[in-house]
Amino acid sequence: MPSWHAMKVEDVLRELGTSLQGLPVEEARRRLQVYGPNVIEEEKKVHPLEIFLRQFKSPLILLLIFASILSYAVGEAFDSIVILALVLASAALGFYQEYRAEKALEAIKKMVAPQATVLRGGEKVVVNASEVVPGDVLLLSAGDRVVADARIVESVNLRVNEAPLTGESTPVEKMVDPIPEDTPLPDRANMVYAGTVVVYGRGKAVVVATGKNTELGKISATLEAVEERETPLERELSRLSRWILVFMLVVAVVVSLVGFFVKKYSPIDLLLWIVSLAVAAVPEALPVVVTSSLALGVYRMAKKNAIVRRLPAVETLGSTTYICSDKTGTITKGEMTAVKVWMKDATIEVTGTGYEPTGKLLVGSKEVDPNGYEGLRLLLLAAFNNNDSEVRYQDGRWVTSGDGTEIALKVLALKAGVNAELPRLGEVPFSSERKRMSTLHELGGRRVVFTKGAPEVVVPLCRYISSMDGRVEELSEEAKRLVLAVNDELAGQGLRNIAIAYRYLDDGRSTITESDEKDLVLLGIVSMIDPPRPEVKDALETCKKAGIRVAMITGDHKLTAVAVARELGMLGEDDIVVTGKELDSMSDAELYEKVEKIRVYARVSPEHKLRIVEALKKRGHVVAMTGDGVNDAPALKAADVGVAMGRTGTEVAKEASDLVLADDNFATIVEAVKLGREIFENIKKFLVYLLSANVTELMLPLVSSVLGLPLPFTATQILWVNLVTDGPPAIALSLEKGEKDLIYRNPRKPGEPIFSKKEILLFLVAVPLVFTVLLTYAFSSLLSLGEPEAEARTAIFTSLVVAELAMAYAWRSLRKPSLTLSPLDNKPLVVSIILSVTLQLAFFASPYVMHVLEIHPVTINDIIYAALVTAAMFVSVEAFKYLLSKWK
Ligand code: ATP
Repeated sequence: MPSWHAMKVEDVLRELGTSLQGLPVEEARRRLQVYGPNVIEEEKKVHPLEIFLRQFKSPLILLLIFASILSYAVGEAFDSIVILALVLASAALGFYQEYRAEKALEAIKKMVAPQATVLRGGEKVVVNASEVVPGDVLLLSAGDRVVADARIVESVNLRVNEAPLTGESTPVEKMVDPIPEDTPLPDRANMVYAGTVVVYGRGKAVVVATGKNTELGKISATLEAVEERETPLERELSRLSRWILVFMLVVAVVVSLVGFFVKKYSPIDLLLWIVSLAVAAVPEALPVVVTSSLALGVYRMAKKNAIVRRLPAVETLGSTTYICSDKTGTITKGEMTAVKVWMKDATIEVTGTGYEPTGKLLVGSKEVDPNGYEGLRLLLLAAFNNNDSEVRYQDGRWVTSGDGTEIALKVLALKAGVNAELPRLGEVPFSSERKRMSTLHELGGRRVVFTKGAPEVVVPLCRYISSMDGRVEELSEEAKRLVLAVNDELAGQGLRNIAIAYRYLDDGRSTITESDEKDLVLLGIVSMIDPPRPEVKDALETCKKAGIRVAMITGDHKLTAVAVARELGMLGEDDIVVTGKELDSMSDAELYEKVEKIRVYARVSPEHKLRIVEALKKRGHVVAMTGDGVNDAPALKAADVGVAMGRTGTEVAKEASDLVLADDNFATIVEAVKLGREIFENIKKFLVYLLSANVTELMLPLVSSVLGLPLPFTATQILWVNLVTDGPPAIALSLEKGEKDLIYRNPRKPGEPIFSKKEILLFLVAVPLVFTVLLTYAFSSLLSLGEPEAEARTAIFTSLVVAELAMAYAWRSLRKPSLTLSPLDNKPLVVSIILSVTLQLAFFASPYVMHVLEIHPVTINDIIYAALVTAAMFVSVEAFKYLLSKWK
């Protein structure tokens, strides 16, 4: 491979058959075919057949297959075939669930795939990192993860953290010029490498290697963080399944002993029976089923713009007690419009709304033409050129991209007819810490520095002030205070203010640094409005009722933030507002004392966010924190739920987060919390349904054996019951719409066991116990009425299935009477119940099926018993729910 770092840029471009405009779209597509996707390890796709075969991996299923072959060998061919068929049916069901989950997970992965910005045919496009090819021109800016090895062709203070590759965490400054061939990798200042992170500045680089050919690909075949698939929930469920397995062993021992010695059943029959019971009653597939419903829930959330990056986050999300949210673009629309320009000797009103540059600049009622006013013209030139946003007229409409503040400034300049592009020679980029940015341009044969930023930051850097016509005077300290007072007044009206200043640099330099941001001439302050998103008010209301507190964290001026918070009704009587500076002077102990009262944090930097998260967590809160920049990443990681902005967020922020908001909207966080609770509650519902059925299936034969009764169901019958309980009704329960008041209950404590002791006692012990008592009583009384064994069993079997289905309906809510829920809300459930009951009854019409399931024609007695048991179980479930609600 050529030594890219030792070559001149032209040579690099020639060698790679590309240009500074990037590859043509067609060529990029062709190269993707040739070089393959830019990934270090190819995504392993699970073949559906593999998922199907996985269903037979369980030792219990294998044992069952073995037992049924054995029973075939000793002459019970029919039974064994039926059993195999039922096993196949439940494997099909398991396959369906897993396959669906796999698809949902795949879709989620696609949504969170890393992206990169490249030039293709001169146009800036965002593509999936996997589609980047050698010859592509990467556009790099702070917060990007470099996705391939590339040679720098442009650097504006580009600084890269190369720790993932070199272990060195101090950012490295990048430049364009060739360097000696023997320069070791960590010192190659004109190269960037896959896996490293841009922390400052911006730049362009030509991709020289992708995928396995990158330095990273060479040293590690598996960088991609191993995704933790096992959630705390799954772990807990595995434990629960193990308990049931132990119970199963007890039942197996008792039933075999009684069956063999007292009832004289054949050992093979007993084996087949016990293994069938084990397959039916041991919920070993539970973790998979739960993952499946989590994945589907996550998929549903994604449709509502909330993209969950890690499955366990769903659970934490539902437990959130504190949301710390950025203001600009999240609580507010972020679509800014400049409405006022304050200058030393005039205040200019700006008309027109939105991003369309139609409007006027008025002083009083008179329109002003910047051509007559040098100061105003410079201000507008600065607004236009000290600017990285794009505002273009395209296909009959105005399209914009970039930061809302900058778009507003560009639109302002365009409204006044100022659109002269001055070549940019140098710059000191914007960062949330600096709260300002400067650019160096050529203007009328001179070099000029434009600086814009937060007024409290820019005004102190000024030494002069310009009036509208361009006359420059000294700016005294007293005058600075007056300007900042004006700024406060504007901020108090909820306006977001940007000060603009300039300075001629006549020493012919073509670069600038932070030290040049001094002795500036203040031109004026541009005030813009950024209205709150209309849906935020309702979302805040919901939070209040849901026991979730909200804090606003913003880099904006205190008074602007307060005005927005007031408008939204966020600020209560006791609430306090704190600035970054005040936060700096607070000790951790002091912050811990006050943190729950602080509703607004203003003029803070990303570093402050980490302290806020830590203080809140210490207070026992489950904290969701939003962020978008590279420096937000530590706070996002530290938060229980890191929330990144999908549109304006950097790759690094997204990587550090659990949740990505596709629409950057605060209301979406609240929606996600709501859905998180709903998904969790639904999982509980079908777990209660499934587990209480399993426990009953185990208790029933145990009690019968102990009482000396025959076994209450046959092997085939129990496998069928299992299909009914594990099958469509259970899946349908996981689709239950959330109960409306779910969000208004207090958040679940994280790490709390999924079922409380009371719930276990009432739902997983008492319900099965009542069911067992009823069925055993029915069984023994039918037998004592003289019904033959097989017929009494038919009655029990029918009762078991029908009552289970009725309970599926009752478990639609774990708290409310199911009859108070709107009856047809969960159509899949209703349909699956009706289908199952119909099927169960249809069995009696076919002598063949009756033979298969070993059932007999039902008598009127059987029907009465089944109806009574079903009604009784339905009522019991409701009664236990009521008991739970009263049990304090
Ligand atoms: P939030 O933290 O709620 O998103 P924010 O956008 O104000 O609010 P930052 O992006 O950290 O937060 O910006 C901090 C301050 O820097 C802003 O209040 C503004 O005064 C100034 N600022 C914002 N964008 C620019 C920019 N592109 N150029 C110069 N200054 C800017």
